[in-house]
Amino acid sequence: TCSRMEGPSVCVCVCVYPQWASVNRAVLICDQCCSVHRSLGRHSSQVRHLTHTAWPPTQLQMVQTLYNNGANSIWEHSLLDPASAMGSRRKTAVYDKLHPNKAEFIKAKYQMLAFVHRIPCRDEDLLAARDLSKQLHSSVRTGNLETTLRLLSLGAHANFFHPEKGTTPLHVAVKAGQVSQAELLGVYGADPGAPDVNGKTPIDYAREVGHMDLAERLVEIQYELTDGLAFYLCGRKPGDTQDLTELAKAAKKKLQLLSNRLFEELAMDVYDEVDRRETDAVWHTTQTHSALATAAAVPFLPVNPEYSSTRNQGRQKLARFNAHEFATLVVDILSDAWRRQLGNSCAVLKGFAHQPNRVPNVH
Ligand SMILES: [Zn+2]
Repeated sequence: TCSRMEGPSVCVCVCVYPQWASVNRAVLICDQCCSVHRSLGRHSSQVRHLTHTAWPPTQLQMVQTLYNNGANSIWEHSLLDPASAMGSRRKTAVYDKLHPNKAEFIKAKYQMLAFVHRIPCRDEDLLAARDLSKQLHSSVRTGNLETTLRLLSLGAHANFFHPEKGTTPLHVAVKAGQVSQAELLGVYGADPGAPDVNGKTPIDYAREVGHMDLAERLVEIQYELTDGLAFYLCGRKPGDTQDLTELAKAAKKKLQLLSNRLFEELAMDVYDEVDRRETDAVWHTTQTHSALATAAAVPFLPVNPEYSSTRNQGRQKLARFNAHEFATLVVDILSDAWRRQLGNSCAVLKGFAHQPNRVPNVH
């Protein structure tokens, strides 16, 4: 069920004909800008092709609404503010060079979040984050998506359990029937299976009020990681994975010995690698006549500064697996995730969605 963006639109870098969207930033971008977004990694920007990637319709609707309502101004707040010192800083223009001009601008904007509005200095960042998260609870009850995205960009937690109300923001959004808010929270890692103070999950509430479409979509979000891995396998035809070499058997054994925490990390890393490989395939399909095709390759997962160097090295090594080896790894992870879930010892199938990077310090 692919949907298309409607009406005329321009890339936020003032490039015409955007072909891609950044889902977590809720902006539309052109091929050139997308090449830079991809190089930043999913933790900064989750890119999807507007027509060559299948979209959940309500997710596309969420991005479209935010984009039409000027979500871009969230990422350029201080550039638009004449009182700010940044106000004199020029945005990139259509005919600027991709490297270094546009690339530097995109990195400052989406990786460093250099132009996001910072709230006044507080005693403790932790306290500030709690405040923001409480505001998030109020915001998701309304239709105002921009406020929600602004709060999330400032460091509000999508899974914040409100101590007085006994709910997470997703409970609030679902009870209020705010589908787009639920989509946005999902992109920022909200867990549809998290219980509230009464032991009920957002999925439970969606079913209770008879909002079955939303309930189904929430289940999809909950199983995004394992579904993503499974769909990858369906497309790849991994061959007979029963025929394991000694090396693969050893790897499988090692996988089973991982702690739940490390297993969860590995599953998330492999999911990122699946996304990199699939986006790469779309990229090459859509760039056959473009000089960008090879110039803008993303040969392995970009560094995520929030992870240890060991983990980042491990993530980059995933690119070395050939299609068959990688498919074998994905099969092993799926079967071990299943085993762990049966043992009820692990929440690995829940709440795996990625937390895109945030303003490191709320000053
Ligand atoms: Zn652009």
